[in-house]
Formats: sequence, structure tokens, C-alpha cells
Amino acid sequence: MSAENFPYLLKAGTELSRYRIAETGLPWRKYRTPYRIFLAEMLLVRTRTDVVAGHFERIISKYPTIEALALANENELREVLRPLGLSKRVPYLIKAAHYICDNHNGEVPADFERLLKVPGIGKYTATAILTFAYNQDLVPADVNVLRFVSRFTGLEMGHVTKGSQELRVLLPLLSEANVGLSAENLLDFTRLICKARKPKCKVCPLSDHCSYFKNVLLDQETK
Ligand code: SF4
Repeated sequence: MSAENFPYLLKAGTELSRYRIAETGLPWRKYRTPYRIFLAEMLLVRTRTDVVAGHFERIISKYPTIEALALANENELREVLRPLGLSKRVPYLIKAAHYICDNHNGEVPADFERLLKVPGIGKYTATAILTFAYNQDLVPADVNVLRFVSRFTGLEMGHVTKGSQELRVLLPLLSEANVGLSAENLLDFTRLICKARKPKCKVCPLSDHCSYFKNVLLDQETK
């Protein structure tokens, strides 16, 4: 599969770059350090952005450094994370912080393979850390991004959270290098406009070339 098959996906990025909606108010975006991004991405794995945003400063003021997180008392951290429904993440968080302190002198790795060795960090989280903490030109593809590409191109989603291989190979078309679209804007667009339920197609700048809009929504409206 090549870019030529999906010219409108390339154009979609250009359109979206004119329609910036990136939420600069999210606490981990106001002041970025690799540790703040690492902590935010670890918390975002299982929780909605707005929920993490509401508790982020409270959590980071309790554990302001990766060393403090590595030394956290498990029960105390469980209590701190209870309002987010993240009690089960506690051992991963402590193990990950320990691992980074022991193996990387407390510096969050800036390398994909090294990040994947950190307990609790998978491909998505590693990509997000490299993108947002180290400005690498990547596309962190969560379920929202994959759903958007599936809707826009008309390709099947495949796996419910990981998407199909067909979809994943299209992701580089959305990167900043090709189309002037930041990963942050893409994530926010797919979370706030091209939402799982009731996407806001009527205000979407991409509707003219969107397969879902043309084939599904217009069809429903004419029935
Ligand atoms: S037109 Fe609707 S389905 Fe298509 S990209 Fe926009 S919001 Fe998503």
C-alpha cells in the first residue's frame, strides 16, 4: 500500500494543520520534562485525558522526581491514584521508575528499544514519550487515531484496539514531516472531533473526502 492510494489522507494532515485544536492547557503540556511526560503517558494508558488532567499536578507534587516515584510506598501511591481508578497500575509505575533509576541514572530513555524494556511501557507509550518528551517526528497511534484513519479511508478497523496492519502502514502519512500536522493536534482532533460516538462531522474540515461521512452518515440521512 502506498501514499498514492490515499491522497486525501495526506491532504487531511494539511487541512488539520490549519485547524489547530491542540489543547495547550493540559498540565503535562504546559511545562514539559521527560519525567512529566513519562508520568502522564503511564497514567493515560488506562484513563481518560480529562481525568488525568484533573489530578496530574496533585500527583506530581507528591512524586516530583522519578527517584521519589521509585521510592513510593505502594499503599500510599494506591491511595493517591484511587480517584483515577488506577490502583492496578501502582506496581508498574514503581517498577518502571526503579528500572529507569537503576539502568539509566534516572533519565527517561530517548530510544525506542530502551523504552520498550522499561516495565509497563508498550509500543504506544514509548512512541508517545519520544514524540512529546523528545520531539521525535512520530505518530503515536492510539485507538482514536486508528479509528479516524479507518473511518476516513473506509478500511476495516481490524483489531478493536490495535487496528489492522493495513491501517498502521498508513500512519506515517499523518506525520509532521509529510503534512505539517503535529501529533498533539492529531490526538486532540481524534478525541474531540472524530470521537468514538457521535463524531462532529458537520464541523469537521475533512468531511469532503471522508469515506465514513460520505458512505455512512449521508446514507443514514437520506433513509
Ligand atoms: S467527517 Fe466525521 S468521521 Fe470523517 S474524519 Fe471528520 S469527524 Fe471523523
